Amino acid sequence: MINATAEGTGYTIVENASLEGRNTFRVPARTDLLVDVTRREALAEVLAFPYLRSRPLLLLGGGSNLLFTRDWPGVVISIAAHGVRIVEDRGDAALVRAEGGENWNDFVQWSLARGFFGLENLILIPGSVAASPIQNIGAYGREASQFIATVEAWDRQTTRLVRLDNADCRFAYRDSLFKREPDRYLITAVEFLLPREADLRTDYAGIGEELALMNCAASAATVAEAVARLRTRKLPNPAVIGNAGSFFKNPVVAADVALELQREHPALPTWSAPEGARKISAAWMIEASGMKGVRDGDAGVSDQHALVLVNHGRATGEQVWALAQRVQAKVLERFGVLLEPEPIVI
Ligand SMILES: Cc1cc2nc3c(=O)[nH]c(=O)nc-3n(C[C@H](O)[C@H](O)[C@H](O)COP(=O)(O)OP(=O)(O)OC[C@H]3O[C@@H](n4cnc5c(N)ncnc54)[C@H](O)[C@@H]3O)c2cc1C
Repeated sequence: MINATAEGTGYTIVENASLEGRNTFRVPARTDLLVDVTRREALAEVLAFPYLRSRPLLLLGGGSNLLFTRDWPGVVISIAAHGVRIVEDRGDAALVRAEGGENWNDFVQWSLARGFFGLENLILIPGSVAASPIQNIGAYGREASQFIATVEAWDRQTTRLVRLDNADCRFAYRDSLFKREPDRYLITAVEFLLPREADLRTDYAGIGEELALMNCAASAATVAEAVARLRTRKLPNPAVIGNAGSFFKNPVVAADVALELQREHPALPTWSAPEGARKISAAWMIEASGMKGVRDGDAGVSDQHALVLVNHGRATGEQVWALAQRVQAKVLERFGVLLEPEPIVI
């Protein structure tokens, strides 16, 4: 058993650690061992500890896309390495490397302050840079995968550091190779190709209207401000009330299924999806099932946004999960559609 706190070696270790402050639902959970790796070079040494090799391993970033329904019976590793630098300047674009422990929103602010375009619609998404490729974070018509050039990761199968280019990562809507193979890669850094030319996306979910209200011309800074205002109005702030953002994905269904649903429910919003499929609004279906604002003890469906489950105070992860399953059952009964959770449920 490792029982030392190893400061200055590139990692710190805490035994029997609480994870309550490490997840944005703020539900209680503990782990046998919590390891924060502050230097990438220390990772191989940490992963070689015999104790770590024999126990279940969970990777944790900002804890903003997972729900603990129990303690973690093993080791939790968090990549806490920081740093952002331009690796190669190509004039009209630059290759920028961000270490995995960087806060995503700080990185977006860094890119805006240096005149880069692309990440403005992805402002205010909580979490780490390392987690951004995992579910290919997206918002307001943009996805991280549009700017990711390379992901650097520790491959637990081959026990070496690998570099995966954009195509290798098999990005899709809230999905990637890393989500499909959760026990294989430990992401250490991400390289982004950020343009200096404006190609703004303002036609999505009220950005144009917000810019008009702000009486501003579109620029990366004003689009970021518009998105920040929209998000602040629409989403409960995890610093005030525990949550993990959208708890369910918008289901993607065949076009004829969407058409049939719209025939029965003409107000159901749908959007185009790859290969002729349609994405349908999970929030609308939850609200129409009477679940918006519903509360089971301290576990609740937000009354601000039907897609968001919240912890009103002392809910456990089990209670939040039980409510999520109630929402799933109601929507399935009313619409025949099974909602899939977006966060990882542990
Ligand atoms: C208020 C709020 C709003 C949100 N809005 C959005 C949004 O608009 N769009 C969106 O896409 N998401 C959104 N999210 C979800 C969340 O912010 C993102 O998914 C984010 O990328 C999660 O980052 P994290 O560091 O907190 O990851 P965590 O929650 O810590 O981990 C998420 C997953 O990644 C794995 N993981 C973590 N670090 C590593 C690593 N280094 N290597 C390999 N695997 C790792 C974990 O094991 C877990 O499976 C929102 C969440 C909240 C709370």
